[in-house]
Amino acid sequence: GFSISGLHKSYGSNEVLKGIDLSVAPGEVVCLIGPSGSGKSTLLRCVNLLETPNQGTVTVSGFDATDPEVDLNAMRRHVGMVFQQFNLFPHLSVLQNCTVAQTKVLGRPQAGAAAVARENLARVGLEGFEERYPDQLSGGQQQRVAIARALSMDPQLMLFDEPTSALDPETVGEVLSVMRRLAAAGMTMLVVTHEMGFARDVADRVVFMDGGVVVEEGPAEQIIGSPAQPRTQDFLRRVL
Ligand code: ATP
Ligand code: MG
Repeated sequence: GFSISGLHKSYGSNEVLKGIDLSVAPGEVVCLIGPSGSGKSTLLRCVNLLETPNQGTVTVSGFDATDPEVDLNAMRRHVGMVFQQFNLFPHLSVLQNCTVAQTKVLGRPQAGAAAVARENLARVGLEGFEERYPDQLSGGQQQRVAIARALSMDPQLMLFDEPTSALDPETVGEVLSVMRRLAAAGMTMLVVTHEMGFARDVADRVVFMDGGVVVEEGPAEQIIGSPAQPRTQDFLRRVL
């Protein structure tokens, strides 16, 4: 899992995160919701250390990012990330997309990396697609490759940033069902999503952010079903 506390992040004079405290326990699934510009993506990028916070602490699987001695690359390896745009390598096959970081970053031998990749491709329902190229796949299939690629690094935590927002409506379901299976298998997940049905069914906890702060958090049925804060109520009225 991970834990952040007192997290502040600014771009120039624009303070985007204004003191965030958030922990996700091992095996827990947390959905992060909130309006556009509220800082959700910035928060995710602070968890995997693509962004350096201006203030506050970030601890991931026992690594403390604020410790000057910490091995940030080792820390990042524990965190898998799936983006709205799948970011597959277009010139690599599906299998190669899932092996390249295993061999280059983890130093796994090619054969072992291929075995791990095949296993994870099967897990996302893409057995038999190994030799295809990204442009020969639907959006939903590409996103499932991106999930298999992240899983192939054996992450202890998976971050999803609106993984279904760029998909055709008919392929959203296949990606959500892969994520449901991952959650049921005990993966620790932080998911930014506008899919309230998914959040209600799958999340152990829902966190509502607005204006760079956590406004309200709690069990999914409480936050989505009967939010206490007016800002949460307004947001849900607009998205539900
Ligand atoms: P959305 O739902 O639209 O994805 P979000 O909640 O993910 O929104 P962020 O992308 O975290 O919001 O952006 C929060 C604020 O930070 C916005 O005002 C945005 O313009 C600003 N911002 C984000 N990234 C950068 C950056 N690299 N440089 C400058 N400003 C940025
Ligand atoms: Mg975003």
